[in-house]
Amino acid sequence: MNYDSVKKQDPEVFAALEGEEKREAEGVELIPSENYVSRAVREANGSCLTNKYAEGYPGKRYYGGQEFTDAVEVLAIERAKKLFNCAYANVQPHAGAPANIATYFALMEPGDTLMGMDLSHGGHLTHGHPVTYITKIFNFIRYKMKDIETGEIDYDEMLKVAKANKPKVIMAGFSAYPRELNYAKFVEIGREVGAIVIADIAHIAGLIAGKAAKNPFDFGFDIMLTTTHKTLRGPRGGMILTRESEELAKKIDKMVFPGFQGGPIMNNIAGKAVAFGEAQHPNFKVYAAQIIKNAKAMAEVFKAHNIRLITGGTDNHLVLADVYGSLGISGKDAETLLDRVGMTLNKNMIADDPRKPMDPSGIRFGSPAITTRGFMEKESARVAELMVDAMKNKSDEKKLAGIREEIRTLCKRFPIPESFV
Ligand SMILES: *Cc1c(COP(=O)(O)O)cnc(C)c1O
Repeated sequence: MNYDSVKKQDPEVFAALEGEEKREAEGVELIPSENYVSRAVREANGSCLTNKYAEGYPGKRYYGGQEFTDAVEVLAIERAKKLFNCAYANVQPHAGAPANIATYFALMEPGDTLMGMDLSHGGHLTHGHPVTYITKIFNFIRYKMKDIETGEIDYDEMLKVAKANKPKVIMAGFSAYPRELNYAKFVEIGREVGAIVIADIAHIAGLIAGKAAKNPFDFGFDIMLTTTHKTLRGPRGGMILTRESEELAKKIDKMVFPGFQGGPIMNNIAGKAVAFGEAQHPNFKVYAAQIIKNAKAMAEVFKAHNIRLITGGTDNHLVLADVYGSLGISGKDAETLLDRVGMTLNKNMIADDPRKPMDPSGIRFGSPAITTRGFMEKESARVAELMVDAMKNKSDEKKLAGIREEIRTLCKRFPIPESFV
């Protein structure tokens, strides 16, 4: 990317941008919620549209001069509807969390109940973590895995708890769960207790758009919430999709604006439109399928080293490993160690973790960013080998230096691509 003007005008910010460019180029990115966007997305995101106020929706704005903002937002909406096979899309949420909160406000009154995945079993902060303010407004109840070794959700218990608590909303979705959910079961339970059934596909939107994972809408889900910057490989942002109910879609539009947000970030919406265009390209299907192959290849290496994986493996883009239980290194120490040798990932609680959130038993890692970079199963498995090697030899500085060097060489062989179409 060209930062010539920043360089000339603001050397301090330029130094940070340049540092980050280098960090991204020379390290292996394994955080499963991260990715690299194309130059086209970056250009749209850095465009003149940042100058424009466009409160309202296409054709119904509060200010004049909306010829081009309308064009760009309509493109984003139409492409999103086609990608996810639904009737309505709101592309204005600034990120995933605001999309979720606006949806809760649209569907529930204060005091109403939402049923979501237990946070230590894979759910996201916005699904009712006590540190979030929404827990003061709504009541959150949970479902969990029945068996941590296979990942199967306890659907019988879920139905029992739903019947007893009458949630207004039942939510499928996760940030740290490596399996596919039984969407038909969610809809069945939701219909039985009269709940709106929604899916938070923030992590797996790219897998769904690329037809490598099932689409909850095919099972009758009412609404899907997502980010646009994880596997979907667009700019940082959020989106709310409604399958067919005009009534629900209208409630959501009204809550996103003016209920919850102000003016949409139009440059960001232009970036979304470009990314959704990329996701319609046949290459995107190949990318989505390869993400899963690469994650499976990494999981196999860990299993071969007898490292315990939560749910026993993966069907999607991420892997959760109990490194404390298997290798005696805490999640935090593993994160720091692997970062030092050029592999970025995050520490993570494992289900029913005996350790504390700031220094848990597990690590979470995934394949989206390395897949974008062009890694196939062979390179992905090699990265997993290097991870295990580093964790097993955490005090051997010579060995660690060798691993850092191999990672740098691998990254040079697979530069971050500029275009995907
Ligand atoms: C990432 C994520 C979010 C929040 O997205 P932000 O853009 O970080 O606000 C919400 N739900 C799930 C399941 C996520 O993984």
